[in-house]
Amino acid sequence: MQAYDVVIVGAGHAGAQAASLLRQRGFTGSVAMVGEEPELPYDRPPLSKEYLSEEKPFERLLLRPEEFWRTHNIEVLRSTRIVAVDTETHQLQTEGGERLGYGSLIWATGGAPRRLACAGHDLAGIHYVRTRADVDAMRTELASVDTVVVIGGGYIGLEAAAVLSTRGKQVTVLEAQDRVLARVAGEPLSRFYESAHRARGVDIQLNSQVEQILGDAGRVSGVKLADGRVLPAQMVVVGIGILPAVAPLAEAGVDIQTGGVMVDEFCRSSVADVFAIGDCAAHHNGFCANTGPIRLESVQNANDQARTVADFLTGNPQPYNALPWFWSDQYDLKLQTVGLSAGHDQMVLRGDPTSGSFSVVYLKDGCVQALDSVNLVRDFVQGKALVKNRVVVDPVALADASVPLKSLAVLA
Ligand code: FAD
Repeated sequence: MQAYDVVIVGAGHAGAQAASLLRQRGFTGSVAMVGEEPELPYDRPPLSKEYLSEEKPFERLLLRPEEFWRTHNIEVLRSTRIVAVDTETHQLQTEGGERLGYGSLIWATGGAPRRLACAGHDLAGIHYVRTRADVDAMRTELASVDTVVVIGGGYIGLEAAAVLSTRGKQVTVLEAQDRVLARVAGEPLSRFYESAHRARGVDIQLNSQVEQILGDAGRVSGVKLADGRVLPAQMVVVGIGILPAVAPLAEAGVDIQTGGVMVDEFCRSSVADVFAIGDCAAHHNGFCANTGPIRLESVQNANDQARTVADFLTGNPQPYNALPWFWSDQYDLKLQTVGLSAGHDQMVLRGDPTSGSFSVVYLKDGCVQALDSVNLVRDFVQGKALVKNRVVVDPVALADASVPLKSLAVLA
């Protein structure tokens, strides 16, 4: 049986960053990174952006060239899925029945897209957007598709809708709630994105529950809604969230919260020598106004938790307290967010959304808690300090877009 000092399960953003940082911090032990995808670690956000639009070839998505892993003595086991973990003997089992030993285990498996469960869910032409293979499958069919229904008005659904409508498809977005981005953004931002999409020809249908996917000769032909309406569709794209890939650890008795592996401030799970990072890790975040564990699905969190675990394993423990940030690209609109808006009790709009460039600032007890900026890099950059330091601001000055945010940080 092959054994390594550190085994990283999941060769995505978090896993790749943890492996690189271990070496950067001088770790000389053996390191293996095991991933179920056939690719070397790659940048996932472009899948719903420049890779779907075919502006960027896959080679430009690789996080590191192949020789990086070789020269840093990091063994990358591709197309290898871990199906069981024995935390007593420190052994992993692959789907092919092989065993791997570990000293420390870093679980960095991200998540799998939540699947449709309604009738017709298994028809050809229904696509998810998580892996290169998912997007390649979609791209192959696009030439023969005119009408697309996107299920889910979250970031991934809206980004896919933007690319597909720019590529000339007739796109309808179905959102179950009464506004898009309802889980992550304030109402002004939701309404802005709804009108931005509508202005570019995308049909946004709110309060819409999918009842059934209709098919013809085994391929999707339409979507039936709970209110009886039928929308024609030659392709369906589903973006309704992910389920963290934690089954082997759950079966091994590791504590699972909010669907993810519960970790402490050093990314340690409830079991010795088992760490979890990235989308699959549940943690208490100091920037979240709501108490209770959360999972963050962002490149920032994947990279920063990877740093936490690499620091810990190289004898320099630093508790995780990174400032959350995120971005989304739709058409020529760049959204940048900092902080976590959940639990805010006041919202301040800076600037006029109809100008296409504005910010929404979220406050809790008078302190700046989070900020969303559209095409306003200056606010995003200056707003970071306000969120980081939980600055108390005057909402009237905050609402005046001519007052730079950095001056509010100084005044406070
Ligand atoms: P992943 O990158 O998903 O990597 C996990 C890897 O583990 C996968 O390759 C998976 O196949 C593998 N794996 C799972 N189970 C096993 C197993 N049992 N054995 C072996 N391997 C396994 N974030 C942003 O900040 N900004 C954006 O604009 C943005 N856009 C996005 C667009 C899309 C289409 C998607 C899908 C995500 C986007 N994200 C964005 C989120 C971001 O990509 C994720 O937060 C990030 O990839 C998380 O990294 P991770 O390493 O935790 O998981």
